[in-house]
Amino acid sequence: MENVVILGSGPAGLSAAIYAARAHLDPIVITGDTQGGQVTITNEIENYPGFPKGVGGLEMYQLFREQAERFGARIVIDHVEAAELRQQPMLLRAREAEYETKSLIIATGSNPRRLGVPGEDEMIGKGVSYCATCDGFFYQDRPVAVVGGGDSALDEGLFLTRFASKVTIIHRRDKLRASKILQNRAFKNPKIEFIWDTVVERVLGEDEVTGLRLKNVKTGEVYDFPVDAVFVFIGHIPNTAIFEGQVELDQQGYIVTDRRMRTNISGVFACGDVQDPVYRQAITAAGTGAIAAMEAEKYLAELEG
Ligand code: NAP
Repeated sequence: MENVVILGSGPAGLSAAIYAARAHLDPIVITGDTQGGQVTITNEIENYPGFPKGVGGLEMYQLFREQAERFGARIVIDHVEAAELRQQPMLLRAREAEYETKSLIIATGSNPRRLGVPGEDEMIGKGVSYCATCDGFFYQDRPVAVVGGGDSALDEGLFLTRFASKVTIIHRRDKLRASKILQNRAFKNPKIEFIWDTVVERVLGEDEVTGLRLKNVKTGEVYDFPVDAVFVFIGHIPNTAIFEGQVELDQQGYIVTDRRMRTNISGVFACGDVQDPVYRQAITAAGTGAIAAMEAEKYLAELEG
């Protein structure tokens, strides 16, 4: 029987682990399939305090993990597939084992949103990508497209200019959502071009991506645009499917918490991107992870008392 199980190993889960371990709760972290979460597919994190020169996403995960383990957190590589949370102890069914726990911290994060157009799923790994750090290298001196107008699209688009001959950012509006600093960098970069007011209707190609069918949403014009790869950065979908019907979710599927990271079920807390549709930063995820662990500690003390 565990005191606290933490689901997810991104900044939220591992910050919760550091706090829970230091409170002698002997936490166990179940990593999920993407160890380290989304920071590990981020090339460089420049806005996390304490890293004035920036830090690689993978390196950040390793540092967080090392710190959690130093205080005794146990990290298990496994993936929970079902959860019974309306009983005490709660039961988690993972691929490799079952866990009984008095409390639970959900830090399962979110996954990249897909375009949902023909050709996209078939071409994943053949030119459709959601990770510039993973796949950018394969497109040395070749033209690529990026879809999206937020920080991710611009950040990753800028990263892709290290490899690609040209990076065309395709955005559905004529204004970017991204921060001004990234906008300025992108506008100044000679390898970056923009196509405004345009959506992708189809990914073209048989064995590999050869282009995109685009539609200008203002003029209605449809045309084919040749590129060798498309990198999609259009937001995220929270990983909450296994909690449906138990934990309260909002309309977009994010877990509803109060300011103390409590969910509608006593003893179940949520932190990081799985409960945050707005800020979604490593730093805010880490902060909510710390809160969730402190609240779990209080909950367990009351349970014992
Ligand atoms: P985001 O801010 O939600 O932006 C998503 C972008 O994709 C928006 O421009 C949106 O268009 C577009 N989009 C959404 N659905 C679409 C669809 N079906 N078809 C075409 N376009 C679509 O997501 P994000 O860029 O991944 O950023 C997530 C969070 O991480 C943000 O808080 C961001 O600040 C943060 N982040 C920060 C950094 C950094 O500071 N360096 C780097 C990466 C991410 P509209 O604009 O029209 O809605």
